[in-house]
Amino acid sequence: MQPEHFDVVVIGAGPGGYVAAIRAAQLGLSTACVDAWVDARGNPSPGGTCLNAGCIPSKALLDSSHHYHNLRHLLPAHGIDAKEITFDLARMQARKNKVVDTLTRGVKGLLRKNRVESITGLATLSQGKRIEVALHGGKGHRILEGKNVILATGSVPIHIEVAPVDGERIVDSEGALAFSTVPERLGIIGAGVIGLELGSVWSRLGSKVTIFESLPDFLPAADRKIASQALQSLTRQGLDIRLGSRVKRARAHSQGVSVDFDDHGGASALEFDRLIVAVGRRANTEGLDPAAAGVLLDEQGRIRTDADCRTDAEGIWAIGDATSGPMLAHKASDEGVAVVERIAGGVGHIDHRLVPWVIYTHPEIAWIGSSEADLTEAGVDFRSGSFPFLANGRALAAGETTGMVRMLSDAATDRILGVHILAANASELIAEASVAMAFDASAEDIARTVHAHPTLAEALHEAALACDNRTIHL
Ligand code: FAD
Ligand code: AMP
Repeated sequence: MQPEHFDVVVIGAGPGGYVAAIRAAQLGLSTACVDAWVDARGNPSPGGTCLNAGCIPSKALLDSSHHYHNLRHLLPAHGIDAKEITFDLARMQARKNKVVDTLTRGVKGLLRKNRVESITGLATLSQGKRIEVALHGGKGHRILEGKNVILATGSVPIHIEVAPVDGERIVDSEGALAFSTVPERLGIIGAGVIGLELGSVWSRLGSKVTIFESLPDFLPAADRKIASQALQSLTRQGLDIRLGSRVKRARAHSQGVSVDFDDHGGASALEFDRLIVAVGRRANTEGLDPAAAGVLLDEQGRIRTDADCRTDAEGIWAIGDATSGPMLAHKASDEGVAVVERIAGGVGHIDHRLVPWVIYTHPEIAWIGSSEADLTEAGVDFRSGSFPFLANGRALAAGETTGMVRMLSDAATDRILGVHILAANASELIAEASVAMAFDASAEDIARTVHAHPTLAEALHEAALACDNRTIHL
């Protein structure tokens, strides 16, 4: 069979791959994008983990469960009483599925509109930049050849031997987004981003949630003051977060799941109705056969690349979760754009130091740049300014006073080095810090920027003023 030639062949249509493919087509490159994901009805479903089983369905359920929780717990303080607040999980799940469906159909439309050749099937590398695609539904094979090939094969949940996922009693994040009943007692292994978000969803809907975390510290990558306030807040909401607790064995039986774990007190055991394994994700290269094309993996099984996303094989690039760096959708997309712009002869660029992190608990946790611990370790002299939402007018009006903004700036130049936020909508507030840092702003620049009143963003303004010990409202 003769190969079909393209300027760019992208493998994977997650936020890394589909964005890369669209940008390549915009730049006039003939582009094919191969993706293996199909939905429950067997239809192609581009968008990868993010749209199908990650960012989007988790946020849909977080929003639905947040409304329910607020109706029950927040409205009385506003003088609003509602009687008989109930929810219908089937409808909540159907809404989530519709959101996913709308977005995956949107991606299909965007690929079509940009004249990207979308192919559903499993791609395997062979010699050079040749790719064999086993078409979905047993419809045969296609052979593609790209002048450039972009690997965007994403990641899959890590499964651990001590807690074998059976898809019923013991599930991973994908299973936990699809529960059709609310488990009464829910165990979660891992207090990382996914464990905390899924724990929040099911706790708000009525599960008694216990989260086992082997590390002694809560969210070690986050600012210490923010992590400690977040832990307090999540504990108040009913999440039983057990730090320093290592699960030794989980066993599903007809009544539920028995979990044996070690903590400060020695060996203990607890019973749950269901258990979520949320111990992280690993790069996915299943079925890809990277070695056939001379693409090497690192010691953690991720596709090895240089700082510009080049693999060890000439003309083959790798982006997103499949390679090193944070496993975040926007990191994948921005790497995709940068790679394609390099291929097209431009100056593709992504500043890996400025990738924002968000955890969509309530309040949300977001940060960008360095933490106090990073700067101390690097011996950087810095100043810090904090402002609590308790002293922010809009937060008081909304009844959302938990949290703070912390800004770190260079002691000599005042350049902002890191911003850390715990707030009702930290995911949106962090964008101001991203822009400021991308333009090398100083804390003084933010302090001299007019912020609308009353807004939560004023806390950023005040934290910037605090770097110079001159907050107004504290
Ligand atoms: P993926 O999205 O994993 O896409 C890879 C695609 O490649 C898949 O469709 C796969 O089927 C396909 N593929 C793999 N191998 C082949 C092959 N050989 N041939 C053909 N196709 C192949 N990130 C955020 O930034 N914000 C969030 O709020 C967030 N929430 C999350 C919540 C959950 C529950 C989970 C699990 C993840 C979340 N993430 C979030 C992480 C985010 O989903 C990933 O970082 C992102 O999807 C990575 O994009 P990607 O394009 O690298 O890979
Ligand atoms: P993340 O990688 O952010 O999704 O977080 C996963 C978390 O799971 C990490 O903080 C790990 O320390 C934790 N973890 C991994 N294995 C276990 C285990 N057997 N028991 C408890 N926690 C675990």
